[in-house]
Amino acid sequence: MDLLTVEALERPADDAALRARAAAMPAASPTDALLAGGTWLFSVPQPHLRTLVDLTTLPWPAVSTTPAGVTVAATATIAQLVEQLPHPLVQGCAEALVGSHKVWNVATVGGNIALALPAGPMTTLAVTLDATAVVWPATGGETRLPVADLVVGDRRTLLAAGDVLRAVELPSSALRSRTALRKASLAPLGRSAALLGGRIDGDGAVTLAVTAARARPAVLRFPAAPDTAELDAAVLGLEADGPWFDDPHGTPAWRRAMTRRLAREIVEELT
Ligand SMILES: Cc1cc2nc3c(=O)[nH]c(=O)nc-3n(C[C@H](O)[C@H](O)[C@H](O)COP(=O)(O)OP(=O)(O)OC[C@H]3O[C@@H](n4cnc5c(N)ncnc54)[C@H](O)[C@@H]3O)c2cc1C
Repeated sequence: MDLLTVEALERPADDAALRARAAAMPAASPTDALLAGGTWLFSVPQPHLRTLVDLTTLPWPAVSTTPAGVTVAATATIAQLVEQLPHPLVQGCAEALVGSHKVWNVATVGGNIALALPAGPMTTLAVTLDATAVVWPATGGETRLPVADLVVGDRRTLLAAGDVLRAVELPSSALRSRTALRKASLAPLGRSAALLGGRIDGDGAVTLAVTAARARPAVLRFPAAPDTAELDAAVLGLEADGPWFDDPHGTPAWRRAMTRRLAREIVEELT
């Protein structure tokens, strides 16, 4: 949709220009927003916005390899990620983003994580792989924190006004591990009500990322494949951190039941 209150679209020429512009973003009454793919920004009215600062013209390589793993630029589109990082979990998480290829071609990895919808599948991908978020705070410098800690609730992250999610780093050890993904939704092409990613490492340790069923991602870790009782106890233990998510895509009780079932399926597949 047209954003009728937006008066300016700025395209920073380089990192320094972006950082200077981001530092000037008003925190108290946010009239400026970072623009990535725009698939969410342009999908709902944004009457408070006057200026969009476009990240997508910055020359950040979508996917690059480092000695420690793979760095995915925040501006990498879902389509670029699928093409440049062939991995079953990447493919599965991309397919969990309900949308046409038109959405895949513009929606970005960073936009998905920064938007922080519980059903954000790039968050699922990142949390399953113990990914690190590289953040450029508006105040300067660069910070790193687990993506699992960056997303703190439904549409809530630790990003302050003007903070830029620059990249997501996926460790090579996790990328080498066997993974599994399960999704539950009320309709075959519906938004995820529960989206779980799992990983088994070379030493037998199992990691489960629980997303969509809860407002914020949860990580369950086991030194070895858990039995059903241990797994159930860990899933139900999440309730100590707050209730199951509730929205038109699924009731809390159903999400809890689906999470238990999908967690069992993942452990079974991984082992
Ligand atoms: C048909 C359709 C289906 C969809 N299905 C899903 C779904 O299943 N799950 C889901 O999670 N979403 C879904 N979405 C919502 C949205 O398309 C995705 O979340 C998408 O990944 C958002 O990315 P974007 O690049 O378009 O972000 P934008 O719309 O450009 O931005 C989203 C928000 O993130 C901020 N932002 C963007 N990039 C950065 C950055 N690098 N640093 C800091 N802040 C940033 C923006 O300021 C804005 O607040 C869907 C949308 C459509 C149209």
